[in-house]
Amino acid sequence: MSQTFAAQCHCGHHKWEWTLGAELQKHVLCHCDTCKILSGGPYTLNQIVPKSSLKITAGGEPSKYSYKGDSGNSVNCYYCPHCTTHIYHHQEVMGPDTIIARTGIPADARKKFPVAAEIYGKDKLSWEPKIAETFDVLPPS
Ligand SMILES: [Zn+2]
Ligand SMILES: [Zn+2]
Repeated sequence: MSQTFAAQCHCGHHKWEWTLGAELQKHVLCHCDTCKILSGGPYTLNQIVPKSSLKITAGGEPSKYSYKGDSGNSVNCYYCPHCTTHIYHHQEVMGPDTIIARTGIPADARKKFPVAAEIYGKDKLSWEPKIAETFDVLPPS
């Protein structure tokens, strides 16, 4: 069953909602080095979701930071211009209708979602325990 998860950035300027089906109510841990640097932690909490599942309810158009992903295509990170909280990412290689939700930000999702998988296991820090099925990079598609 679909459920709506409300989120806001650290300073409260941006507010948004994710409406996600049950199959998407799970964290995917990303251990890539970019996530470590952007977040300051050992991994980030994410899910691949339809763009239509996101509704930005306050703060307007987020700011954008772009870098080149492994595919050579741009990864666009959308964030609050005041506190820099990342709202979502868009990997251009996935097409215009698919985005990456930061599932650690909505309080309900952060606490309730189980971990579905771990990706970029090749960059995982040696002292981290295994939490779920782990892929070297991405699951085979
Ligand atoms: Zn903010
Ligand atoms: Zn990552």
